[in-house]
Amino acid sequence: MKALRRFTVRAQLPDRLSPLAELSVNLRWSWHSPTQDLFESIDPELWVSSERDPVRLLGEVGPDRLRELATDDRFVARLAELTDELHEYLRRPLWFQRELEAGQDLPAGIAYFSMEFGVSEVLPNYSGGLGILAGDHLKAASDLGLPLIGVGLLYRSGYFRQSLTADGWQAERYPSLDPQGLPLRLLTDDGGTAVLVHVAMPGDRVLRARVWIAQVGRIPLLLLDSDIADNDPELRGVTDRLYGGDQDHRVKQEILAGVGGVRAVRAYTTIHNLPAPSVFHMNEGHAGFLGLERIRELLADNSNGLDFDSALTAVRASTVFTTHTPVPAGIDRFPADLVRHYFGDGSAQSSLLPGIALDRILELGREQDPSVFNMAHMGLRSAQRANGVSKLHGIVSRGMFEALWPGFDAGEVPIGSVTNGVHAPTWASRRWIELADDTMEEAEGWERLGDVPEQELWRIRGDLRAELVDEVRRRVKASALERGSTEAELGWTADVFDPNVLTVGFARRVPTYKRLTLMLRQPDRLRAMLLDPERPVQLVVAGKSHPADDGGKALIQQIVRFADEADVRHRIVFLPDYDMSMARYLYWGCDVWLNNPLRPLEACGTSGMKSALNGGLNLSIRDGWWDEMYDGENGWAIPTADGVVDEHRRDDLEAAALYELLEKSVLPKFYDRNAEGLPARWVEMVRHTLQRTGPKVLASRMVRDYTTGYYGPASRAGVAATADGFAGAKALAEYRSRIDSAWPSLRVLEVDSSGLPDTPVLGSELTLTAHVDLAGLAPGDVVVQAVLGKADSDENLSGVVTVPMAHSGQGPEGEAVFDVDTTLPMSGNVGYTVRVLPHHPSLAGDAELGRVAAP
Ligand SMILES: *Cc1c(COP(=O)(O)O)cnc(C)c1O
Repeated sequence: MKALRRFTVRAQLPDRLSPLAELSVNLRWSWHSPTQDLFESIDPELWVSSERDPVRLLGEVGPDRLRELATDDRFVARLAELTDELHEYLRRPLWFQRELEAGQDLPAGIAYFSMEFGVSEVLPNYSGGLGILAGDHLKAASDLGLPLIGVGLLYRSGYFRQSLTADGWQAERYPSLDPQGLPLRLLTDDGGTAVLVHVAMPGDRVLRARVWIAQVGRIPLLLLDSDIADNDPELRGVTDRLYGGDQDHRVKQEILAGVGGVRAVRAYTTIHNLPAPSVFHMNEGHAGFLGLERIRELLADNSNGLDFDSALTAVRASTVFTTHTPVPAGIDRFPADLVRHYFGDGSAQSSLLPGIALDRILELGREQDPSVFNMAHMGLRSAQRANGVSKLHGIVSRGMFEALWPGFDAGEVPIGSVTNGVHAPTWASRRWIELADDTMEEAEGWERLGDVPEQELWRIRGDLRAELVDEVRRRVKASALERGSTEAELGWTADVFDPNVLTVGFARRVPTYKRLTLMLRQPDRLRAMLLDPERPVQLVVAGKSHPADDGGKALIQQIVRFADEADVRHRIVFLPDYDMSMARYLYWGCDVWLNNPLRPLEACGTSGMKSALNGGLNLSIRDGWWDEMYDGENGWAIPTADGVVDEHRRDDLEAAALYELLEKSVLPKFYDRNAEGLPARWVEMVRHTLQRTGPKVLASRMVRDYTTGYYGPASRAGVAATADGFAGAKALAEYRSRIDSAWPSLRVLEVDSSGLPDTPVLGSELTLTAHVDLAGLAPGDVVVQAVLGKADSDENLSGVVTVPMAHSGQGPEGEAVFDVDTTLPMSGNVGYTVRVLPHHPSLAGDAELGRVAAP
């Protein structure tokens, strides 16, 4: 018989064990191995069979065992110790509190919005890198003491679970999750009633959502859930799946995350008596509607005297937008008509955002084609500060969004970068963490690994590889059974992989640009490497394809078919259902982490960082993080065929370079052993990676970078905008409107140079004078710059130096005159021009408004 409905009943804990409840629902346990050990000691077998999920374990453990533990004084004492330790962790002053103490002006609160969060496999609310990054962000924010609140959706089925059919095709399952069985609690008001967030839908309907709270150490993560009886069946399904459904479904999810998300934050901070967040961070554009809701809030309060523009100005000041993809198809875009449908005309009392005119909304997401609404553009227009996720991705993003700042060179586009990081206590094996005295979230812990003897480094690497081999065997067997083999046919799976063979890992989602099958470009060459009698390599591959992407599924099938062949199946495996629980073994145990994206389409990439934290050496195209952190000793850079336009030829060349590196450099280093049987050069690279690369890839470094470079400035700008009855926001909005109306008539009338000798040399003096018709603006409203640089034959300037010019008086027609004395900063073909930009102390930079005038 099948159950109509399934739910989890939590065990009644004896009094002396009651603290287990808190330890099991605060997800801190997921990066605190002593707490994991405590749960394991309750019942080691059940711990494994319940997939190391404390809530599940406590639900399944028998009452006899619980009674027994309640009388076990050692267990009870250990429980008390760990509970005290957790309370101490939740309370003690950390980095953020020390910064405040030292006088830093930092935000009172930060709301961090993301469509997915991968905190732990027990809360499968993520699809891949973006979500896991968000999870790591929360954990590092907790470890650093940031007053941050995470905001997202709780999906009934999360992302899909992957298995393989007999012929190697990806099959998807969507097991539904029971919130009762997850480490969640409901947001309730003082009377204990569940808070419901309301969002108006067209046709006088209302989408309601309850709000679950996952406690991630010190950080509350609010997850909105529409699966409640108060909703009609269609609206109930809004939070059914992550990245499933059509555009209409998707826009409803994003409205709930953005608009509903702000409402959930308001309810949470009011109930818990916390300050309202002074910074809102959009992790990718999906929650971009949050800015509109904040504008609505400001307009609804008539006492502010704000209009749309000044409200937008105030909201922008305190908003940060992070873009995560340089792949245009990865950008979220909706038909403008869909946005029209949901946002209506803003007039009716029942509309989604009363008081906001539709054309203002459409304007924020506008792109070249007016029928399209672009969520990334909306993010950039509604946040005063924006960034990409590695240095290279910063450069690529400035080029990609250049059109939003017409007249500026890509290099001046105001999009910065914060390179992603990974949460070491989550991703580094406890073998390393224990060696470094548990200080892995700090650079010093990693630096200490420089002193570990080489035998010990090599022994740990071997142990981790052996653990991976066991896990590979277990999973290969399970997958073969699922694909229809019988137990009797599966003897071979016991000998899959060898704990002494160089192990290469490749695991990631399967979009085309990641080139899953590049390694198969020359199948015979790969086969020869796998089967080499002296120096073989073994390869573990994993990854999910988006359910709608048959192209990706065909790539998986190609790998699976190759790995199914009897002569190589002990050396190459495809493991289905890549998720955090599998990923961990791969990062721990692989000697080499392979990544071969089509440069520069990998924004950052974080799996290689996790491998590096375990002494894995990266073998990667110089893309994303590897472009800035490859240092010659922490792995290998696969040469790229950048200029080659034909993609097949490019793949051929890059695959050949990959084989060559493996054959000539990677394998010899691994198999060359010294008198003690150690691969000395390899171990030195492992040591270097742990010691030097480790500290740079930490999520704590990333969150500090966000705090000092983005959250702090955004919070200060937001406070300045709202102080004195929003005087700052009103002044900047008024300024912006003056710039908008004056700019079309602003003219650089004339530029004169003087003082240059007949044969100018480097350092020669030059006086520039510019006459500018400011079209009614004051000289202080603008900055006039002399721009000098190398000029090519088309007069394009490059490598420019800009020098501000001083207002020196009025010309004959009443125009403003600006001049400057400067020296020639370079030799060769030099050119100059003059340009005018808006200038206001509340702007984050002179390029912000995307206005520039030149002769
Ligand atoms: C880290 C991680 C990712 C992201 O890896 P990329 O290198 O960014 O592709 C995806 N899935 C899982 C399970 C991960 O742990």
